[in-house]
Amino acid sequence: MAVRLVIIGGGPAGVEAAATASRLGAAVTLVERDVIGGAANLWDCIPSKAMIATGGALALMRRSENLGIRLDGAAPDLEALRGRVRGITERLSASTTRQLESQGVRLARGSARIVGAHTVEITAADGSPSEEVEAEAILVATGSYPRVPDWADVDGERVLVTRQAYPPATIPEHLVVVGSGVTGVEFVHMFRSLGSEVTLIVSRQQVLPMKDPEVAAALETNFLERGVTLVKGARATGVIVKEDGVGVTCADGRTISGSHMLLAIGSVPASAGIGLEAAGVTVSENGYIPINQHCQSNVPHVYAAGDVSGRLQLASVAAMQGRKIAEHVVGLHTRDHRHLDYDKAASAIFTEPEIADVGLAEAEAFALGQKIRVTKVPFAVNAKAMIDGDPRGFVKLLSDPATGVVLGGSIVGAHAAELISVVAIAVIAHLGVDDVAESLFVHPALSEAIAEAAE
Ligand SMILES: Cc1cc2nc3c(=O)[nH]c(=O)nc-3n(C[C@H](O)[C@H](O)[C@H](O)COP(=O)(O)OP(=O)(O)OC[C@H]3O[C@@H](n4cnc5c(N)ncnc54)[C@H](O)[C@@H]3O)c2cc1C
Repeated sequence: MAVRLVIIGGGPAGVEAAATASRLGAAVTLVERDVIGGAANLWDCIPSKAMIATGGALALMRRSENLGIRLDGAAPDLEALRGRVRGITERLSASTTRQLESQGVRLARGSARIVGAHTVEITAADGSPSEEVEAEAILVATGSYPRVPDWADVDGERVLVTRQAYPPATIPEHLVVVGSGVTGVEFVHMFRSLGSEVTLIVSRQQVLPMKDPEVAAALETNFLERGVTLVKGARATGVIVKEDGVGVTCADGRTISGSHMLLAIGSVPASAGIGLEAAGVTVSENGYIPINQHCQSNVPHVYAAGDVSGRLQLASVAAMQGRKIAEHVVGLHTRDHRHLDYDKAASAIFTEPEIADVGLAEAEAFALGQKIRVTKVPFAVNAKAMIDGDPRGFVKLLSDPATGVVLGGSIVGAHAAELISVVAIAVIAHLGVDDVAESLFVHPALSEAIAEAAE
């Protein structure tokens, strides 16, 4: 008899687990209470990047003189933008739904709750009677939601979380963004491109505190050139909402005024109220479900993946966890099976310039006392970057000086999110700098800067 798997949550983790397990012969039920594709599709990756793409096109038009074009009067159309964002989400969700159904996955629309070691109760959204589903394995892939500090009263009008910005009723005149991690800087870029005045409250002395300082500095320079105000070393502790705006108060007594405030201070795992205790699954102090290398919780047949598992909060990582779980559930794991290596996940920040990195970072190598060779090539000497009128940024490659094996890299510049895949393959496949340098890349292309950095 086919092994039965019930998946709670249809985000990247749940969808990939369902598709893979079904292909491998499992009987899969996927329960989603909202949209197939998950928060990634509805609120996070897709709408934010759709808005950024529109903002990017506007920014390009404003820079059009670099390309020998004179253009005046480009402005965002909020109604069209709303339709565009909704349209992309709906098309993606519909195609994923079709794909899962064609693979034989049973899609159950409603809220799931674990009610026994091997039993999940599904309460349908349409009020029809709930049903109980038995399974040998359960995957919890319920994701996360934006964190709101107790000092902020989110009203969806002047005080917003990211989910309320797709797109807002009006483009804020002056947006104060609290949080300078990946999400915060993406929203700074998005709203600045769409025409808002933007102030970013940075709790430390550097935006993107977890990133390579040189990479963060490139972004700060861009923000300052575009008129973004950076308030550094300030910790927001309160917000005063007035009729015509907000005042964000900081621990050091400063008050930052604006028309709206956006919170981008991380997320909370969606692990409460889903019956984990009924199966004996424990959660960490912060509500994440701790997992082992197979993504099993403390209860071996209950798996967790995606944001709720507290590892790297990326859709790509969530999906790969889902695939590995599906293989484990059907017993495909062998001694040779490759575990997911979280240290080799490529990630990108969709700002201008784009920022992407993978593997070892320079600062990390220094902290570890690890000897590395660092080579850097600016796009200013790259023919395609000049042709495109955007020669900002650089490629930085880290390799092992003894063996030449590529250990990591950072790219700052146009299309960095696409280009980093070349470095990611080199890192994952343990390729040497010579393998990269001797690959015959297209000319003229931005990727030539990677080959050059590998020389
Ligand atoms: C603004 C923003 C932008 C981002 N951009 C990117 C990006 O560009 N690239 C990237 O890789 N990552 C990005 N991320 C991170 C990415 O969105 C998450 O890592 C990813 O969505 C996690 O996927 P998941 O599978 O854990 O579930 P989610 O996408 O969070 O989906 C979980 C699903 O579970 C459902 N669910 C929850 N509880 C139940 C229940 N009891 N019953 C039934 N269904 C339930 C929810 O309705 C939801 O649909 C971004 C995050 C944010 C906040």
